[in-house]
Amino acid sequence: ARRGAQHVWRGEGATADGRRVLLLANVGDPASARAAADAGAEGVGLFRTEFLFLDASTEPTVAEQEASYAEVFGAFPRRKVVLRTLDAGADKPLAFLDQGEEPNPALGVRGLRVAFDRPDILDRQLVAAAGAAQRTSAEVWVMAPMIALPSEAAWFADRVRSHGLRAAGVMVEVPAAALCARQILDVADFASIGTNDLAQYTLAADRMAGPLAELNDPWQPALLRLIQLTGQAGAETGKSVGVCGEAASDPVLAVVLVGLGVVSLSMSARVISEVGELLKTVTFDECARLAGLALDAVDAQRAKARVREELPQLA
Ligand code: PEP
Ligand code: MG
Repeated sequence: ARRGAQHVWRGEGATADGRRVLLLANVGDPASARAAADAGAEGVGLFRTEFLFLDASTEPTVAEQEASYAEVFGAFPRRKVVLRTLDAGADKPLAFLDQGEEPNPALGVRGLRVAFDRPDILDRQLVAAAGAAQRTSAEVWVMAPMIALPSEAAWFADRVRSHGLRAAGVMVEVPAAALCARQILDVADFASIGTNDLAQYTLAADRMAGPLAELNDPWQPALLRLIQLTGQAGAETGKSVGVCGEAASDPVLAVVLVGLGVVSLSMSARVISEVGELLKTVTFDECARLAGLALDAVDAQRAKARVREELPQLA
């Protein structure tokens, strides 16, 4: 169903001086993709594909996967849709994989690491994604979760390209990947920063643990520094660096992310208009200055307070 008018975003994301920032949606199935299109998303920055696998006792077939992916792509004709390959393990255990007990699942065999043992599962997903891409006009990009090393990014990119898919990227959600972002972008076509896991691993604080929420605050300057490194690598290589974690849903933090070199923001569809409205009141130079204030703060609370003080339009 179409949402209330105040939640519908019209037009294209940009700063006050016209620097383009793609405003994309995070989606998890065909219904949420259609809702995101209705809300005015310019495309999809994170299509989590776990929904098909979550409760399945056997792996969905290539035909089943292709049909679902085509529905999501079909909601965004001629627009960008970034499909993330299966992110199993840790907070997303999958019955059919039978992974066994791990003492520390967040640091275990999760995300792309599953594919090193079971490349056949990844290949079937890529066959389905390529088939679905051919059935629609969406501009389909594919990315891998939980990359730690440039060699992993290269392995994944080769596999994606061998299926005829046009862009192969990775999520930056492990600190090692942010620290080596330049080497990763030398072999991948784009990067998308997952701030939920990047915060968890940078601050050594379980993202599911309520009492540790302050450490997992996406305003933590340490996290912002890793985002800055990744943004700089994007500028050096001319490749797209986006954010698809919760951080992009906070309009004030979104301004800071743009100042750190991020060129696309992917969020839940209902906040796109709020993010877009604030962004168009701030020039790119102001974004960069505000980012500097946040980077120099001693903790998340003060980073946020310093930036908010400088934005009278919030009052
Ligand atoms: C993230 O880690 O920030 C992310 C977007 O992926 P997920 O929340 O699915 O782990
Ligand atoms: Mg993640």
